[in-house]
Amino acid sequence: MKDPIFDFHKIRLGISNSYLIQGKTGYILVDAGDANQEKVFVRHLKKHGIPPGKVELIVITHVHFDHVGSLRAIKRLCNCPVAIHEKEAPLLRGGVVVIPTGANLFGKAAACLARNLPRGLMRFPPVEPDITLSEDLSLDEFGIAGRIMATPGHTEGSLSVLLSTGEAFVGDLAANYLPFGLGPILPPFAEDVGELFESWKKLLSAGATIIAPGHGRPFRAELLKRKLLSKSLLALSKKL
Ligand SMILES: [Zn+2]
Ligand SMILES: [Zn+2]
Repeated sequence: MKDPIFDFHKIRLGISNSYLIQGKTGYILVDAGDANQEKVFVRHLKKHGIPPGKVELIVITHVHFDHVGSLRAIKRLCNCPVAIHEKEAPLLRGGVVVIPTGANLFGKAAACLARNLPRGLMRFPPVEPDITLSEDLSLDEFGIAGRIMATPGHTEGSLSVLLSTGEAFVGDLAANYLPFGLGPILPPFAEDVGELFESWKKLLSAGATIIAPGHGRPFRAELLKRKLLSKSLLALSKKL
């Protein structure tokens, strides 16, 4: 569906969200969902009268199976390039499943569980990326005022797409799936929590006002600012 509050397409592909962002001549897609979700993607395009050929670029925020599961099928359908951070490229090329590191109790338990699951459950078909990034990339050539930037923390090579209008598509840099307004939260998994908070700061100072996460609903970036503030107040109170 097209988000009623925010002006972009959020497409639920299995357990994660993908986003379609409209440019002057076509669209870019952020992430490619769980495995076997290409039909859901096609249905969304059809419903909104978007020919697959209008998708001009796929940006992968990071190579976890729930963000690249349908990438090969979607790339074939749209016949467009895939962009990824150079640090994640070997994982995508090799179809390598990484069990992420737990950032909290729930994440640690889930990671432990996942390590014991049959690997086939989390497999994804390998894809050769077309654009491997080591620095920011402007989206000018796709008719979009914005850029792809490195926002490590959840994984070392995590990327976000930040538009000049303030929307940030962040993959799993933050999550927002708790009920009763308890989110947004730190994602349950992170390779480096310190680096993750630095990436939050980087996005905020680059002008992010809305965060569109890989799991859960988009939310105001202000909430990340508050979390960072309460975290530093907590650290300060421990010192006193
Ligand atoms: Zn992830
Ligand atoms: Zn995820």
